[in-house]
Amino acid sequence: MDICLLCDEPMHNKPNLGIALDPSKKYKHKEHIIQNAIGGRLKSSTILCEACGGILNTEIDIDFTKLFLPFTARINDLAKDRNAKANTRLQGTHIGSNKQVKYVSKTPVPLRPSREINDAEEKVTIYCPKDIIDNFRKSVNKELEEAHKQHYRIDEIYEFSQSEHVWISFSKDVKDFNDKWKMGFIKIATEFAYMHGVPKDQLIKTLDITAKKLIFSNNLHPFVPVTAIDHLLEYNRNIIERNYPSHTLHLYTQSYSEHDKHLICYVELFSTFQYYVVLTDTYNGPEVMQSYSQKIVTEKKIDLDIKELQPKELMQEARSFGINLSNAPDSSMEGVYDYFEKEFAKIQPVYELDLKKELSASLELLKMAILKANLPKSPSQYAGLNDELAAFIAKFSKEDRRKILLETFDFFYNNEDYIIERFRKLYFENDSNGNRDRISMIAKCIQIAAKDIKQVQDYGHEKFSFLSYFLNVQQNIE
Ligand SMILES: [Zn+2]
Repeated sequence: MDICLLCDEPMHNKPNLGIALDPSKKYKHKEHIIQNAIGGRLKSSTILCEACGGILNTEIDIDFTKLFLPFTARINDLAKDRNAKANTRLQGTHIGSNKQVKYVSKTPVPLRPSREINDAEEKVTIYCPKDIIDNFRKSVNKELEEAHKQHYRIDEIYEFSQSEHVWISFSKDVKDFNDKWKMGFIKIATEFAYMHGVPKDQLIKTLDITAKKLIFSNNLHPFVPVTAIDHLLEYNRNIIERNYPSHTLHLYTQSYSEHDKHLICYVELFSTFQYYVVLTDTYNGPEVMQSYSQKIVTEKKIDLDIKELQPKELMQEARSFGINLSNAPDSSMEGVYDYFEKEFAKIQPVYELDLKKELSASLELLKMAILKANLPKSPSQYAGLNDELAAFIAKFSKEDRRKILLETFDFFYNNEDYIIERFRKLYFENDSNGNRDRISMIAKCIQIAAKDIKQVQDYGHEKFSFLSYFLNVQQNIE
């Protein structure tokens, strides 16, 4: 019998429609482990009863997912139609001028009129939406006249270039932002662990069994890249990761000594917001390693008019969708066409990703990009690799590039499982005797945050601007 994470009651299947519910019973419901409103697709009916699901939804999910509205609104628009009309809800700050902007047909436009007078250069810059710039210019001219500055040069900016960086407004004006933020991550991590069979009484850092509440206990730690490979990957995620932006969960045990075992869930949302949640620092159970990863942007189903296909194309198309036409119960030509059509209708877009495959693909691309950067002149086999990435890699010294390259080979020599075993968990450092030390990545991240919180904040801002850039610009270049 499945027991509810929160109220500790056994959960029953809901009776069929028309049959009365028993008010003394708790009923199962499908709980989204990553919130539905931010595109989460992983569901389980063994975590929370319907009543407790409702409570956590009100207490945590509604506020938490609102924080992501600037992104989800944009992503939903993308999913509906890549050429969606202006999304006026989306606002932000233009980095160069520090002006508030709104979006009009993908172009950042000053939100309200303003002017900056530069007396040293005797010039005025006007920032103003085009439709009201005539009136605003008049008032600025008047102001200049009154100040005897009418000879100043006037520059007018009524829109910014699409390729310029804009911070999307996020979190600034939300009350209790930190509490809402933390509890959203705590909830995701706790539910993911419980779904994978971690007993409730082990989850001491996120669950108060007596009070029947999820809790925060200084157990949320921001991830920052520590290794050279992670630097390269994270600072180029939007061009390296083939399904960017994605959501990823990674639950694992970390042993510091025989009696010092932690259970940790790494939570990454939109490939951007990256945290470790420590579920317990006194774990005593079997080793755990569970991952989940998914795309976010909704995929349109491919439009295919099967009846229009030539018989020889039919075979090829069927194969590309993994449909075996020899399974058609009616082997006449018509029967085969009907079978294809029926099977094709069943295919739904797949959102779940194989984290191991995705990480391998990213590392492979990185490896190729380093090889390309190392070559004096790129031969055709490396053509087509992202130049931005190659340029980023070129900033590293030849010696560092060699080290990174060896590190990527290291992953592949040790077979692909190695990628997941190390993922966000540990890395190697040479000690003074030349031995390779296994270092806990979360411990290093906590150390960095304690020593230099600015480094953590700067990294967060960078990641944030990549996502903004992706949603504003990269996605719109057709
Ligand atoms: Zn319950």
